[in-house]
Amino acid sequence: MNTDPDCIFCKIVAGEIPSFKLYEDDETFAFMDINPVNPGHALVVHRAHHRDLFEIPAADVAIATRAAQRVAKAVQATLEPAGMNLLQCNGPAAKQSVPHFHMHVIPRHMGDGLTMNWDLVQGDMDEIGALAGKIRASL
Ligand code: 5GP
Ligand code: ZN
Repeated sequence: MNTDPDCIFCKIVAGEIPSFKLYEDDETFAFMDINPVNPGHALVVHRAHHRDLFEIPAADVAIATRAAQRVAKAVQATLEPAGMNLLQCNGPAAKQSVPHFHMHVIPRHMGDGLTMNWDLVQGDMDEIGALAGKIRASL
C-alpha cells in the first residue's frame, strides 16, 4: 500500500503519531480532529497515501466514504447534532492543509456560524478524548 514517510496522516495511521482513534479496518482509519470546528469533528482516511480527490483511485474513495458514513452515524448517535456535514477539501484555495485524501465528519448546529474556510484552533484534548470514547462505543 502506498505510504509517504513525511505525511502526518500516514504517521497517524502507522501509530507513529498519537491520535484519538475511533475506528480502523484493513483499509481505513478514523480519528478525532485536534482542531475541531465543532465538538465531535472527526477525520476518515484511506490508509493508502493519495494526495487528493484527483489522485485517489475511485475504489478507494468508495471505501473511505463507506467508513465515513459509519463514523458519521456513530457521531450522530453520540451527540445528536441538528445536522452533519461530510467535507473533503482539495488544494490551497479549498484550504486543504494535509495532502492525504481525507473526509471531515462535522456535526452542525443551528446558527453555529461555521463558514467553509475556517481557521485552525486547537481543541481541549481531555474533551476530545472523552468524546472519542463515547463515539467509539457507538461504532
Ligand atoms: P484539511 O484542511 O486538509 O481539509 O484538513 C486537515 C485537518 O487535519 C485539519 O482539520 C486539522 O485540524 C487536522 N490535523 C492536522 N494535524 C493533525 C494531527 O496531528 N492530528 C489530528 N488528529 N488532526 C490533525
Ligand atoms: Zn499520507
